Amino acid sequence: MEKEINYGSDYKYIPTTSVGSGVGMDVLPDLFCHTVQIVNICLVGNPESKEFVLVDAGMPKSADEIISVTEERYGENARPKAIILTHGHFDHVGAVIELVKHWEVPVYAHELELPFLTGQKNYPEPDPTVEGGMVAKMSPMFPNEPINLGNKVEMLPSDGSVPHMPDFRWIHTPGHTPGHVSFFRENDRTLIAGDAFVTVKQDSLYKVLTQEQEINGPPRYLTTDWKAAKQSVIKLEELNPNIAVTGHGLPMSGELLSKSLETLVQDFDSIAIPDYGKYINKKLH
Ligand SMILES: [Zn+2]
Ligand SMILES: [Zn+2]
Repeated sequence: MEKEINYGSDYKYIPTTSVGSGVGMDVLPDLFCHTVQIVNICLVGNPESKEFVLVDAGMPKSADEIISVTEERYGENARPKAIILTHGHFDHVGAVIELVKHWEVPVYAHELELPFLTGQKNYPEPDPTVEGGMVAKMSPMFPNEPINLGNKVEMLPSDGSVPHMPDFRWIHTPGHTPGHVSFFRENDRTLIAGDAFVTVKQDSLYKVLTQEQEINGPPRYLTTDWKAAKQSVIKLEELNPNIAVTGHGLPMSGELLSKSLETLVQDFDSIAIPDYGKYINKKLH
């Protein structure tokens, strides 16, 4: 029987943007990155092969934009094999209900993220008091109620493989959310990092607007476990990625990426962890 799937009742259009909004980029021949307002979605798969997936599902009310970007790249009525989620925050699942209905494809996420995707558990409230400027101040308007994908969402395979992304494996990178994952391809060291770290200072409205490149930890107002977040960045740095697409900000590669990641690991406490905020009562040392 077809079950009803739906967003949380607090889902709504969020009026925020960046200079990258609506802009797409060929990062690699089989990796296309497109910015929806302030968040990135990825289309993974060669345009000729017609075998592709969508990684993350944009902001609320962006389904039409995502469908048209997809058809532009893969042809009229093209549909991905699946939608793969780094995590379930509103800005990464914003269009997923419409997309699942339109494409009739499965969604995959980490087991620990499923409660937030099946209507069982709210994310913690965003913390508007956290050190981090305007975006944090805006964060109370961000939806945190779980969406309900019912039986349309499945657990990522426990062997680390990623459905329809043959050379990638998923890596558990919790901290920003409990079931946050990143995707890594060993042969060309390509990393899709979600919000494990980002390449824009997400807490500065000015930097979000201009997309000025600057590595940072996960977006502060929504991160609740800083100890795990730090371990996740260490794990990703050890992979020595050559190119990284993050949930927010421009793709980063080569020496800039390795140097930036090294700095982020070394100075994580001062760069990433806010000086104050309600989720930083945990001692890190
Ligand atoms: Zn997030
Ligand atoms: Zn995000």
